[in-house]
Amino acid sequence: MKTQTCHDCGIKEGQLHLEGCDMERCPKCKGQLLSCGCKNINELEREPFFDSGFSCLRCGKFLPELKQVSDQEWKTIIGITYPTDCVLCWNCMNLIKKLRMLLSKNTTLKVSKLKSNTNQ
Ligand SMILES: [Zn+2]
Ligand SMILES: [Zn+2]
Ligand SMILES: [Zn+2]
Repeated sequence: MKTQTCHDCGIKEGQLHLEGCDMERCPKCKGQLLSCGCKNINELEREPFFDSGFSCLRCGKFLPELKQVSDQEWKTIIGITYPTDCVLCWNCMNLIKKLRMLLSKNTTLKVSKLKSNTNQ
């Protein structure tokens, strides 16, 4: 297993993000520290970086909260495209859900259409 590094500021897992990194979570509101606007952040409360899948695999969107989807749902909807241990934002998941439904209804839907949709 390789050590993950923050793809914005480049620090390794377990270290604090560098100032201005857009991947750092706010310890107060759990939003993006760079844009949430909270003041007086206690250094001791800052969260070190851990790559526990807090950003969407597909679009890279930062996810302050994780929600668990049932194994069954994941397998039937996402599992064909993405591994079970990955994380997707709701937007991407709903998009995949939609595509999956289209595909199951209309098997003639062209693969190229699917590709152009997922490349946005
Ligand atoms: Zn960082
Ligand atoms: Zn905040
Ligand atoms: Zn996404």
